[in-house]
This record gives sequence, structure tokens and C-alpha cells, in this order.
Amino acid sequence: MSETLNPFKMAQQQLSTAAELMNLDEDIHAVLREPMREFHVSIPVRMDDGTMKVFKGFRVQYNDARGPAKGGIRFHPGETVDTVRALSAWMTWKCAVVNIPLGGGKGGVICDPKEMTQSELERLSRGYIQAIGRYIGPEIDVPAPDVYTNPQIMAWMADEFAKIRGYYAPGVITGKPIAIGGSEGRGDATARGARYTIREAARHIGLDLNGATVAVQGFGNAGSNAARLMAEDGCKVVGISDIGGAFHDENGIDVAKAIEYVAENGTLAGFDTVSDCEELTPAEKVLELDVDILIPAALEGQITEKNVHNIKARMVAECANGPTTPAADKVLTEKGIFVIPDFLCNAGGVTVSYFEQVQGNMNFYWAAEEVDERLGHIMKKAFWSVVETAEKYNVNNRTGAYVVAVGRVAEAMKLRGWV
Ligand code: NAD
Repeated sequence: MSETLNPFKMAQQQLSTAAELMNLDEDIHAVLREPMREFHVSIPVRMDDGTMKVFKGFRVQYNDARGPAKGGIRFHPGETVDTVRALSAWMTWKCAVVNIPLGGGKGGVICDPKEMTQSELERLSRGYIQAIGRYIGPEIDVPAPDVYTNPQIMAWMADEFAKIRGYYAPGVITGKPIAIGGSEGRGDATARGARYTIREAARHIGLDLNGATVAVQGFGNAGSNAARLMAEDGCKVVGISDIGGAFHDENGIDVAKAIEYVAENGTLAGFDTVSDCEELTPAEKVLELDVDILIPAALEGQITEKNVHNIKARMVAECANGPTTPAADKVLTEKGIFVIPDFLCNAGGVTVSYFEQVQGNMNFYWAAEEVDERLGHIMKKAFWSVVETAEKYNVNNRTGAYVVAVGRVAEAMKLRGWV
């Protein structure tokens, strides 16, 4: 990753823009520029062939002024500590922008889950918890799934934590399977939350969702569910992509079929052989399709100075964390494209994770409808607080979101006497 795309520098730059605008106290800004604490661990794992491999892992607790740190664990071959730092900063702003009583954290392990067997993944997941177990807990720091981790991995991690503590503490991790204390609606919560913000944004810019065209980059938890939900809302999904390739059909892609295809084959590679789609090369072209709504839902640093001039969408709904570089963000603003910034757009996941904690604490679980209704209420409120703040300061939505979120974290820090 080039210097300009270093995600943590990107996060710091975004913070600085907001800090200047809102006249943020210098001491608070200095504290907020860096993570509160971070752990670097080595995880020895016995592989199926009998050899031992040592994986590098991180857990970063960025800021916990508003409550315990909260944030997912990513398994990725390209993981870096700066990515984890950036993601933990964005988690801090995310929890604050939707006004849930949590701070920000994030974890990551450098590994390639696609090359590992289930038993190797289980040993790695358990090993990670053995390494960081003493630094996390329901009142300290609560992980969840992220890229290439899932409910099964959360279940192994919760179980390993139970072995360390001597009792099962479901509150240590969210995104668990429902059978062991997960919440209804957590599976597609990120995409559901994004849908609520997209609906409000469409109303705001006068876009009729019925028949609106959509392109989605990334077809995992966030992307595939976003594609499915937008199709349910009457949109025409004309472009999708994942690590296996990008596919385009101007008449609309059968999203259910694509989801089924990925469930069977692992990626979208070859999807054009079973559908009317054409393959786009390079796959990044999915971002440049002439659509109403573009949903980046893969990784950070995808919309850059290089391709931003080719973006044609009216709205960019950032399901992924950090998909747009600061330089590209400027251009999107100049082009008048309505951006729903990442830590607002994808906050549905952490919001339902918070609901999972609340339900776990009460030992009383809500129906899916109740989860979705509460999620909708929070997402709509957050959306309008961001848009109104952006309009008040005459800035773009990302800076508006920062002003709302940083203001809340700063208030908590002052009240607690940290500065
Ligand atoms: P996932 O592992 O379920 O899916 C990731 C998807 O991205 C896969 O389809 C993968 O093939 C694709 N991908 C990876 N590299 C790609 C590339 N170079 N080009 C195109 N596609 C590529 O992960 P996820 O949970 O859906 O996370 C996706 C994004 O959403 C991440 O930025 C993540 O941080 C963010 N996010 C996820 C959640 C959540 O609850 N899962 C919550 C908030 C934000």
C-alpha cells in the first residue's frame, strides 16, 4: 500500500479536517490522533500436516471514553497494524455517530483463511483468544466478525474465552450464532443499516429507488446482503464483484442466484458461465459503471485519485470501511455525488452487536422484527444528524459525521476529566 493510501494516515487526516472545522481542543485532538493501547501477538498454530506456523495478530483499543472498546476481527493476508489502527479509529467514530455507549477497537490476524482448513482456522481462532484473552472482556473490549471471519469463528473464540475464565461469558464477543447467545438480525445487520441510510439519502436527493441501478463491489456479508436488500427495494443490481471477478448485466443480475453461486463455489469466479452477465476486466471497473447507487463493500482504498474521475454514480453508499481516499473524497464532493460515509453507512453491524450485548445482559431475546425496527430508528436518526451537521457547517457528509462523532467522544473525555 503506498504512503498516500496508508489507512491510518487517512483516518488521521480525516480527523484533522474535522478538528480544524470544529475548533477541537488541541489536547483532545492530540489524544484522539493515536490509539489508547494496542497488543501485538504471535500465535503458534499446529497445521494439519504437523508443521508449526506462527501467525502475527493485533488488537487495538483506540478509545474507550464512551464505553468498552468494540470492533471486529479481520483475518486477511494483507493485514497490517496500520489497517487495524485505522479501523479501530473508525469504530470509535461509528459507535459515537449512532450514539451507542461503546468505544472503538479492532483486531486482525495476518493469515489467508482461503488456504486453511476448518481445523487450522479453529486452532488459529482459539490461539488468538489465548493471546489476547486477558485484555478483552464484556466490560473492556468486545470483538465481532469482520472480513473473512464469521459466526463459527466467534463461537470458537467465545468458547476459548470460557475456558480461560472458567465460565461462559457471552458478552465477550458478538456476531455469535443464535444458538449460543447471538441476536436475530445480526447476520445482515450491516447491510440492513446501510439500506436505511440509502432510503433516507434517496429521499433527500430525490432518487426513486424503484428501478434505480446499483453496483456493488465485494460480495461477502456486507455486499451480498446489500445487493439482496436493494433488489428487494425495487432497485436493479447491474454490477457485482468479489475477489474472483466483476460481473455486469444491464438488465439486472439475479442476486439470489449469485448468492447461491458463491455459497457453492466460494467466489463469483465463473458466474458468467451460469448467467447472462459479462465479466468486467479489470474487476475495479465495477466502480465505474453508470449507476445511480455505488456500494463499495470490499476493502479500504478502492476509490482513489486514479479512478474517482470515472465514477458516475449519484450516490456512494460506503458499506466498506475506508473505501475512499481523502483525495478522492474531495473530488466526489466537487462532483456533487452524495456520499453516505463509511462509519455512518455500515454502522448497522455494530448497532445490532450492541443489541446482542443488551439482550445477552437481560438474557431475554427480541424477535427479528423488533431488532430491525430499533435498528431503523437509530440509523435514521444518525443519518439526519450527519446531514444536518454537514449542511450547518457547509461541508461534505464525511466531515459532518466526524463533527458529530468527535464532538461526542470529546464530551465524554472532558466529563471523565481526561483533558
Ligand atoms: P466478507 O469477508 O464477508 O466479504 C469480503 C468480500 O470482499 C468478499 O466477497 C471478497 O471476495 C471481497 N473482496 C476482497 N478483496 C476484494 C477486492 N480486491 N476486490 C473486490 N472484492 C474483494 O467481509 P464483510 O464483513 O462483508 O466486510 C466487507 C467490508 O465491510 C469491510 O470493509 C468491512 O470492514 C466492512 N464492514 C463489515 C461489517 C460486518 O458486520 N461484517 C460491519 C461494518 C463494516
